[in-house]
Amino acid sequence: MRPTAVIDCPACGELAGRGYPTCLVCAELVDQFWTLDWRPLVEAAGLPEQELAELVLQEDVGKLPWTCTDMAMTVLRCTACGAELGTGDLPCLRCRVADEQRWAWDHIGYPTRMTGNEHAMRVARMVLRAPHRQRETIVEGWRLTLPFLLLGELPTNSQAQRIRAHVLAERYDELAACRSLYELAALPSVPWRKEG
Ligand SMILES: [Zn+2]
Ligand SMILES: [Zn+2]
Repeated sequence: MRPTAVIDCPACGELAGRGYPTCLVCAELVDQFWTLDWRPLVEAAGLPEQELAELVLQEDVGKLPWTCTDMAMTVLRCTACGAELGTGDLPCLRCRVADEQRWAWDHIGYPTRMTGNEHAMRVARMVLRAPHRQRETIVEGWRLTLPFLLLGELPTNSQAQRIRAHVLAERYDELAACRSLYELAALPSVPWRKEG
């Protein structure tokens, strides 16, 4: 069910995934990894989704798939700020606590029950659902990488470092034209500018 090659999203025109979550086609492509676990849980539980979501977050970490923790948070509103749980503005303490608790799964699950790619997918989805909680360059980095994460790929440390350096150099548009992680990382250095 993972795509086997990057495609241009027919709706937003970006590499599929980059329009997450505002582009509905990109959103569905990304979220299918989560709904695959969530939908059967909802059907089996026979409870209203929000009630189920509350129960899921009270479960011991690791009992249910990590995707279900994320979906439960997506379904619930923060009782303090009203935003999707964990995505409120930074001063919201309730959101901060919920967001921190989410990562308990990764601490116990990686690398035996969760791959590096899965962890990265999880971070990317969280960052793009709450971009106002992050520095802009962080958001851009995950937006650029997500189409390749969907294929099951993961940048090496040195690739990730180089991509980050290009993003910091404000080369988003050039990076957005790259069609592989390799290309993203291999973007040539900025040439000497001719004085004008
Ligand atoms: Zn799209
Ligand atoms: Zn909140």
